[in-house]
Amino acid sequence: MRLGILGGTFDPVHIGHLITAECVLEELSLDGVLFIPANVPPHKTERKIISSYHRLRMVCFATANNPRFKVSDIELNREGPSYSVDTINELKKIYIGATFFFITGADAINDLPTWHEAKELLKNCHFVAATRAGVKLEKDALIEYFGELARTNIHEVNTRRIEISSTDIRQRVKEGKNIMYMVTDTVAKYIEKEGLYK
Ligand code: ATP
Ligand code: MG
Repeated sequence: MRLGILGGTFDPVHIGHLITAECVLEELSLDGVLFIPANVPPHKTERKIISSYHRLRMVCFATANNPRFKVSDIELNREGPSYSVDTINELKKIYIGATFFFITGADAINDLPTWHEAKELLKNCHFVAATRAGVKLEKDALIEYFGELARTNIHEVNTRRIEISSTDIRQRVKEGKNIMYMVTDTVAKYIEKEGLYK
Protein backbone atom coordinates (compact mmCIF):
# COMPACT_ATOMS: atom_id res chain seq x y z
CA MET A 1 0.00 0.00 0.00
CA ARG A 2 1.21 3.49 -0.90
CA LEU A 3 -0.06 5.99 1.63
CA GLY A 4 0.27 9.77 1.52
CA ILE A 5 0.40 11.76 4.73
CA LEU A 6 -0.75 15.34 4.93
CA GLY A 7 -0.12 16.95 8.28
CA GLY A 8 -1.26 20.41 9.18
CA THR A 9 -2.94 22.63 11.68
CA PHE A 10 -6.08 22.58 9.53
CA ASP A 11 -7.50 25.62 11.27
CA PRO A 12 -9.63 25.20 9.18
CA VAL A 13 -9.03 22.67 6.40
CA HIS A 14 -9.63 24.27 2.98
CA ILE A 15 -9.75 23.29 -0.69
CA GLY A 16 -6.01 24.00 -1.10
CA HIS A 17 -5.37 21.03 1.20
CA LEU A 18 -7.90 18.81 -0.57
CA ILE A 19 -6.68 19.63 -4.08
CA THR A 20 -3.04 19.11 -3.06
CA ALA A 21 -3.87 15.71 -1.57
CA GLU A 22 -5.82 14.64 -4.66
CA CYS A 23 -3.12 15.90 -7.01
CA VAL A 24 -0.34 13.97 -5.22
CA LEU A 25 -2.53 10.89 -4.97
CA GLU A 26 -3.01 10.90 -8.71
CA GLU A 27 0.59 11.80 -9.68
CA LEU A 28 2.21 9.17 -7.47
CA SER A 29 -0.55 6.55 -7.80
CA LEU A 30 -1.16 6.45 -4.07
CA ASP A 31 -3.85 4.24 -2.54
CA GLY A 32 -4.90 6.89 -0.08
CA VAL A 33 -4.00 10.05 1.78
CA LEU A 34 -4.10 10.29 5.54
CA PHE A 35 -4.87 13.75 6.95
CA ILE A 36 -3.20 14.22 10.33
CA PRO A 37 -4.17 17.30 12.34
CA ALA A 38 -1.26 18.48 14.47
CA ASN A 39 -1.38 18.98 18.18
CA VAL A 40 -0.64 22.62 18.90
CA PRO A 41 -0.19 23.35 22.58
CA PRO A 42 -1.74 26.74 23.42
CA HIS A 43 1.46 28.18 24.86
CA LYS A 44 3.30 27.44 21.61
CA THR A 45 1.51 29.97 19.46
CA GLU A 46 0.84 33.66 19.46
CA ARG A 47 -2.62 33.38 18.04
CA LYS A 48 -5.48 31.41 19.50
CA ILE A 49 -5.91 28.09 17.72
CA ILE A 50 -9.34 26.57 18.01
CA SER A 51 -9.61 23.28 19.82
CA SER A 52 -8.30 20.12 18.24
CA TYR A 53 -11.83 18.76 18.56
CA HIS A 54 -13.18 21.29 16.05
CA ARG A 55 -10.15 21.00 13.75
CA LEU A 56 -10.46 17.22 13.66
CA ARG A 57 -14.20 17.31 13.02
CA MET A 58 -13.80 19.75 10.14
CA VAL A 59 -11.16 17.52 8.52
CA CYS A 60 -13.56 14.56 8.87
CA PHE A 61 -16.40 16.52 7.24
CA ALA A 62 -14.20 17.82 4.43
CA THR A 63 -12.84 14.38 3.51
CA ALA A 64 -15.98 12.32 4.13
CA ASN A 65 -17.05 11.96 0.51
CA ASN A 66 -13.67 10.73 -0.73
CA PRO A 67 -13.09 7.05 0.07
CA ARG A 68 -9.33 7.48 -0.51
CA PHE A 69 -9.03 10.21 2.12
CA LYS A 70 -8.66 9.12 5.73
CA VAL A 71 -8.18 11.05 8.94
CA SER A 72 -5.93 10.13 11.82
CA ASP A 73 -5.96 11.57 15.33
CA ILE A 74 -2.66 9.99 16.39
CA GLU A 75 -0.90 13.31 16.89
CA LEU A 76 -3.82 14.74 18.83
CA ASN A 77 -3.66 11.83 21.24
CA ARG A 78 -0.07 12.61 22.14
CA GLU A 79 1.09 15.22 24.60
CA GLY A 80 2.61 18.27 22.93
CA PRO A 81 3.79 18.61 19.34
CA SER A 82 4.88 15.46 17.54
CA TYR A 83 8.08 14.67 15.74
CA SER A 84 7.40 13.30 12.27
CA VAL A 85 9.77 10.44 12.96
CA ASP A 86 7.54 9.30 15.86
CA THR A 87 4.37 9.66 13.81
CA ILE A 88 5.82 7.54 11.00
CA ASN A 89 7.02 4.88 13.43
CA GLU A 90 3.55 4.68 14.94
CA LEU A 91 1.88 4.53 11.52
CA LYS A 92 4.20 1.70 10.47
CA LYS A 93 2.73 -0.40 13.26
CA ILE A 94 -0.82 0.33 12.12
CA TYR A 95 -0.33 0.07 8.34
CA ILE A 96 2.04 -2.86 8.22
CA GLY A 97 4.13 -3.01 5.07
CA ALA A 98 2.87 0.33 3.73
CA THR A 99 5.13 2.85 2.00
CA PHE A 100 4.59 6.36 3.32
CA PHE A 101 4.75 9.58 1.34
CA PHE A 102 4.99 12.62 3.52
CA ILE A 103 3.45 15.54 1.63
CA THR A 104 4.66 19.02 2.42
CA GLY A 105 5.74 22.27 0.81
CA ALA A 106 9.03 22.42 -1.10
CA ASP A 107 10.24 25.06 1.36
CA ALA A 108 9.82 22.66 4.27
CA ILE A 109 11.69 19.94 2.37
CA ASN A 110 14.59 22.27 1.65
CA ASP A 111 14.86 22.61 5.43
CA LEU A 112 14.78 18.84 5.96
CA PRO A 113 18.40 18.65 7.21
CA THR A 114 17.30 20.64 10.28
CA TRP A 115 14.44 18.26 11.14
CA HIS A 116 14.65 16.00 14.16
CA GLU A 117 16.36 12.73 13.15
CA ALA A 118 16.07 13.68 9.49
CA LYS A 119 18.24 10.86 8.15
CA GLU A 120 16.29 8.25 10.07
CA LEU A 121 13.06 9.82 8.82
CA LEU A 122 14.14 9.76 5.19
CA LYS A 123 14.98 6.06 5.52
CA ASN A 124 11.47 5.39 6.79
CA CYS A 125 9.38 7.38 4.36
CA HIS A 126 9.34 9.23 1.09
CA PHE A 127 8.89 12.96 0.87
CA VAL A 128 6.73 14.76 -1.62
CA ALA A 129 7.51 18.38 -2.31
CA ALA A 130 4.29 20.04 -3.37
CA THR A 131 5.76 22.98 -5.19
CA ARG A 132 4.06 26.29 -4.82
CA ALA A 133 4.68 29.70 -6.36
CA GLY A 134 8.20 30.99 -5.99
CA VAL A 135 9.71 28.05 -4.11
CA LYS A 136 12.20 25.75 -5.78
CA LEU A 137 13.15 22.35 -4.43
CA GLU A 138 16.91 22.36 -3.75
CA LYS A 139 17.44 18.78 -4.83
CA ASP A 140 21.22 19.06 -5.34
CA ALA A 141 21.77 20.41 -1.84
CA LEU A 142 19.56 17.65 -0.44
CA ILE A 143 21.49 14.96 -2.32
CA GLU A 144 24.72 16.42 -1.03
CA TYR A 145 23.44 16.16 2.54
CA PHE A 146 21.47 12.90 2.45
CA GLY A 147 23.22 11.07 -0.39
CA GLU A 148 21.39 8.67 -2.72
CA LEU A 149 18.43 8.47 -0.36
CA ALA A 150 17.45 11.99 -1.40
CA ARG A 151 17.40 10.92 -5.04
CA THR A 152 15.08 7.97 -4.49
CA ASN A 153 12.96 9.18 -1.57
CA ILE A 154 12.28 12.82 -2.40
CA HIS A 155 9.72 13.49 -5.10
CA GLU A 156 8.52 16.70 -6.62
CA VAL A 157 4.91 17.14 -7.61
CA ASN A 158 3.75 20.27 -9.27
CA THR A 159 0.46 20.83 -7.50
CA ARG A 160 -2.03 23.35 -8.71
CA ARG A 161 -1.53 26.71 -7.13
CA ILE A 162 -4.55 27.58 -5.06
CA GLU A 163 -3.88 30.82 -3.31
CA ILE A 164 -5.93 30.07 -0.23
CA SER A 165 -4.73 29.75 3.32
CA SER A 166 -6.43 29.06 6.61
CA THR A 167 -5.26 32.51 7.66
CA ASP A 168 -7.32 34.04 4.82
CA ILE A 169 -10.36 32.08 5.84
CA ARG A 170 -10.17 32.98 9.51
CA GLN A 171 -9.77 36.62 8.56
CA ARG A 172 -12.73 36.52 6.21
CA VAL A 173 -14.99 34.92 8.79
CA LYS A 174 -13.95 37.54 11.31
CA GLU A 175 -14.86 40.27 8.85
CA GLY A 176 -18.21 38.63 8.15
CA LYS A 177 -17.24 37.77 4.56
CA ASN A 178 -18.26 34.71 2.59
CA ILE A 179 -16.01 31.63 2.54
CA MET A 180 -18.15 29.72 0.06
CA TYR A 181 -16.04 27.66 -2.42
CA MET A 182 -12.89 28.13 -0.28
CA VAL A 183 -13.90 25.35 2.08
CA THR A 184 -16.40 22.53 1.56
CA ASP A 185 -20.05 23.31 2.26
CA THR A 186 -19.92 20.99 5.24
CA VAL A 187 -17.02 22.93 6.75
CA ALA A 188 -18.63 26.31 6.03
CA LYS A 189 -21.82 25.18 7.75
CA TYR A 190 -19.90 23.81 10.72
CA ILE A 191 -17.97 27.07 11.17
CA GLU A 192 -21.21 28.98 11.10
CA LYS A 193 -23.11 26.65 13.42
CA GLU A 194 -20.30 26.59 16.00
CA GLY A 195 -19.58 30.29 15.66
CA LEU A 196 -15.87 29.69 15.02
CA TYR A 197 -13.34 32.43 14.15
CA LYS A 198 -15.65 35.25 15.14
P1 ATP B 1 -2.20 28.91 8.06
O1 ATP B 1 -2.62 30.03 7.15
O2 ATP B 1 -2.89 28.91 9.38
O3 ATP B 1 -0.71 28.78 8.17
P2 ATP B 1 -2.40 26.90 5.98
O4 ATP B 1 -3.42 27.28 5.00
O5 ATP B 1 -0.96 27.13 5.61
O6 ATP B 1 -2.74 27.55 7.38
P3 ATP B 1 -1.75 24.40 7.25
O7 ATP B 1 -2.68 23.62 8.10
O8 ATP B 1 -0.66 25.16 7.90
O9 ATP B 1 -2.64 25.40 6.36
O10 ATP B 1 -1.19 23.51 6.07
C1 ATP B 1 -1.04 22.12 6.08
C2 ATP B 1 -0.21 21.72 4.86
O11 ATP B 1 -0.89 22.10 3.65
C3 ATP B 1 1.15 22.40 4.78
O12 ATP B 1 2.09 21.45 4.30
C4 ATP B 1 0.94 23.53 3.79
O13 ATP B 1 2.16 23.86 3.11
C5 ATP B 1 -0.07 22.93 2.83
N1 ATP B 1 -0.93 23.96 2.22
C6 ATP B 1 -1.62 24.93 2.84
N2 ATP B 1 -2.31 25.69 1.98
C7 ATP B 1 -2.07 25.19 0.75
C8 ATP B 1 -2.50 25.54 -0.59
N3 ATP B 1 -3.31 26.56 -0.81
N4 ATP B 1 -2.03 24.78 -1.60
C9 ATP B 1 -1.19 23.76 -1.36
N5 ATP B 1 -0.77 23.36 -0.16
C10 ATP B 1 -1.19 24.08 0.91
MG1 MG C 1 0.69 27.36 7.01
